[in-house]
Amino acid sequence: MINVTLIGTGGMLPLPDRWLTSLWVEYNGNACLIDCGEGTQIAIAQHKLKLSHLDTILITHTHADHISGLAGLLLSLGNCGKTNTLKIYGYTGITDTIRQLLCICPVLPFELEIHELPLDGINSFDWNEMKISSIPLDHSIDCLGYSFTLCRKPVFAPEKAKALGIDVKFWKTLHSGNTVTIDGKTFTPDMVTAEQRSDIKISYITDTRYFDGLADFAENSDLLICEGMYGDDEYIEKMLEKGHMVFSQSAKLAEKSHSKRLWLTHYSPALTNPMDYEEFMKKLFPETTISTDGESTILK
Ligand SMILES: [Zn+2]
Ligand SMILES: [Zn+2]
Repeated sequence: MINVTLIGTGGMLPLPDRWLTSLWVEYNGNACLIDCGEGTQIAIAQHKLKLSHLDTILITHTHADHISGLAGLLLSLGNCGKTNTLKIYGYTGITDTIRQLLCICPVLPFELEIHELPLDGINSFDWNEMKISSIPLDHSIDCLGYSFTLCRKPVFAPEKAKALGIDVKFWKTLHSGNTVTIDGKTFTPDMVTAEQRSDIKISYITDTRYFDGLADFAENSDLLICEGMYGDDEYIEKMLEKGHMVFSQSAKLAEKSHSKRLWLTHYSPALTNPMDYEEFMKKLFPETTISTDGESTILK
């Protein structure tokens, strides 16, 4: 089960009733946070997420609304007794920015491991049995989008294993994808499993202009979390200049990528009531949620 919580839904600056956009993904008791703007640690506490579970932070880019809360969060992690390593991922050059932020929290009781991801296409790495991929976005500065993919093993079929006379002690090995040989007979994993299960995929796209490669990156997402600064198409040109999208472009991305669900986020502070566009969005992409802070789901 993957717990996905959208910690905040704001862009640019936090508002009294809207924290800045960041995402919490938790699986197997380990959590990964994407972005950490001002106030993110307060929002994490409000949503009752356990800071002690956090082992990885992904940074999309170094605009303040995505990173200015990092130093405070690191201090709080230290205060809550974290001693194991925290990994931070961002694009090439992120180390300098993080080191500068660290000058206000120079002593932390845990190790920081900073990983720089290239800006030359899609890159992937492993986290917590899942694959995380990054893609360069088209914003006013370098920026990365991310996706999480959990490849699920087919369901184990004990009745098949029993019928083949395979001792229980070999079941786990077979279900892990390994072949076993017992008394000269070879058994392969497909002999003891039922139907294949599809992967679970979550994509997180902010901040960026719309471009065609986004749909390939987010292809078949179970949940696409995507920015939308404004609900009205009259802002398309203005957002193109600023390196952002409007709601209808997020819907286009959800449709083109064959995503199952869309959560909108990163609203302009000037957009006081995003829910006004609910009906409009349901027509464009019915499985849209005009997210509010703390939007949460379990994927399984
Ligand atoms: Zn932003
Ligand atoms: Zn930005």
